[in-house]
Amino acid sequence: MIENARIIPLPPVEWGGGVEKDVVLLQITTPEGITGLGSAYTGASQLRDALTQYQQNPATLHKTDAEMTIPMSAIDIALWDVRGKEENRPLSELLGGRKRDRILAYATVDLPMTSAKAGDAFDKKLCDVIDQGFKAVKICIDNFGHRDNSKSETEWDLCEANLLRFAKRIVGKNVQLMLDAYGSDPEWTGDFDWALKTTLILEELDYLWIEEPLAPQAVDDYVRLTQLADIAIAGGENFVLLKDFENISKLKAVSIVQPDCTRVGGLTQMQSIRKAASKNNIDMIPHGWNTAVGLAADLQFQATVSDNKYCMVEVMPHRIITDLLKNKPFALDNEGRITVPTGAGLGVELNNEFQK
Ligand SMILES: [Mg+2]
Repeated sequence: MIENARIIPLPPVEWGGGVEKDVVLLQITTPEGITGLGSAYTGASQLRDALTQYQQNPATLHKTDAEMTIPMSAIDIALWDVRGKEENRPLSELLGGRKRDRILAYATVDLPMTSAKAGDAFDKKLCDVIDQGFKAVKICIDNFGHRDNSKSETEWDLCEANLLRFAKRIVGKNVQLMLDAYGSDPEWTGDFDWALKTTLILEELDYLWIEEPLAPQAVDDYVRLTQLADIAIAGGENFVLLKDFENISKLKAVSIVQPDCTRVGGLTQMQSIRKAASKNNIDMIPHGWNTAVGLAADLQFQATVSDNKYCMVEVMPHRIITDLLKNKPFALDNEGRITVPTGAGLGVELNNEFQK
């Protein structure tokens, strides 16, 4: 039961490519005085509505539409945090058993489209991420795949392949690299032929996956591409409802599914999505356009995974990830891994500046 709920709005975040979005934190307190933290990829007013709905009827927590499911995510995560504290165990133990203590963190970095010259803005920004100690990086290149008439198709092919090769050269052999084409951008123009062509280049360059190489509604093309590709095809960040994840899993439209726990209804729904994915031999890596509280939830969730290859969490190097919590719990070790907090629940506490 929730006795008190405190909504903590955070400043809107620029996620790259001009995308700005609200995120919000929730701190609940039970009648026994136990507090729990949650996070949702939405604004404070949506979370207020979700809280009202939940308080009137707790059964709506995981039985609502997509719009309301997003703020409900914060409530679900906060309730899990409370449960962990009540049992005095880290959430990984309650979510299926702790299989590992450290999780590989991959950084997502938004890069400008350049002509791939040493020392240019692309080079500097990517080097900066590597210097922070990340051993896995997902790059998103502004306007990549958005071809216009300024170049011929052959020139575009060359220009894009050059940048992908350039990125690989910059990060070197010891850093895993992924490309996010961001096909859920409403202005996405890349079609199946583009996706296949780009996937083949990435295979040759030994990228780990290509993400959203197609628009989310192009499900048949996703299925075809996943069958043809030798590298992993990742997607699904845009979906919210369990039934959509069940659908793409059943169709094998992707090889890695990427739900965001602060959008899909929290850790409870993450468990259901993982069940649907693994039934169809599909891997799952949490999408992490969220906050330090979302990252803490992802770490506990991923600590339950035994497979090594795709056991990762996504880190957006923003202030709401780096500065929100006490004791800087997400420091990278020299293998680019984050130690999963061992305290009860999520195992993290808000910094004084966010405390009442
Ligand atoms: Mg993405």
